[in-house]
Order: sequence, then C-alpha cells, then structure tokens
Amino acid sequence: MLVVEDNDEVRALLRQALRSAGFEVDEVSNGEDALQRIADRLYDAVILDIGLPVMDGVSVLENWRRDGRKMPVLILTARDRWSDQVAGFDAGADDYVAKPFHMEEVLAKVRIQIQLQVHKRQLKQQVLELRQAKEAAEEAR
Ligand code: CA
Repeated sequence: MLVVEDNDEVRALLRQALRSAGFEVDEVSNGEDALQRIADRLYDAVILDIGLPVMDGVSVLENWRRDGRKMPVLILTARDRWSDQVAGFDAGADDYVAKPFHMEEVLAKVRIQIQLQVHKRQLKQQVLELRQAKEAAEEAR
C-alpha cells in the first residue's frame, strides 16, 4: 500500500504500524511523488493526507479518479476541518480518519477497504459469469 504524508513523524508511525500488520508499504511526502507512484504501480489501498504542501491531497485524489484509478483511498484530515472531509469524499475518497488518530482505527479502516475491494471484484466476476451463462443458454435454444 501507499502512504502519502508530509509529516515525517506521522508517516513513520503509519509505516511501522502497517508493516507490523503485514502490509507492504511504500511512502511519499508530497502530491507530485504520489501521482508518479500511482502511475508506476498498482496498490491495494492508499492512505492520503489532505494537508500536503504544493499540491494538496484533494487535488491528488481528483487527479487519480479522473485517470480512472479505482484503488481504495483513506484520507487523513484535521479533526476540526469537516469541510476537508466533504471535499475528500467529493473527490472520491472511500473513507477518512481525523487527526490525531488511533492507529487501530486506521488499520481497521484499511482492512475494511481492502475487503470491500475484494468483494467488488468477486461480484464483478459473478456478474460476468452469469452473463456468459445466459448468452450460452440463449445460443443453445
Ligand atoms: Ca500534512
């Protein structure tokens, strides 16, 4: 998974916790690098800080969604900035955690998003198989 956070301390905490939980973690500290990483490889999930220098997290997220990138994105927002949460959801965030956060909350929400992603993929596959079965039945008639 990818962690995008400009605060070194918070980024290190996230990295340690996610690695301990068994995730492979890449990390970047600004929006430009985040765009580059997502262009280079596929991630199961992204943790994206909204308050980033130069290019903020909402712009980064808008960019990804415009390019058709569908990985789950959990945004980090300041506790008193509810408007950031709204802007984040409008830009295509799947969930948010407000700072200061409990690491367990982040881990739980990441797991939920990854599970949801797996379920979505399975559903898509089932729809595809049903469609194929229907076509085969119609041809056999
Ligand atoms: Ca920040």
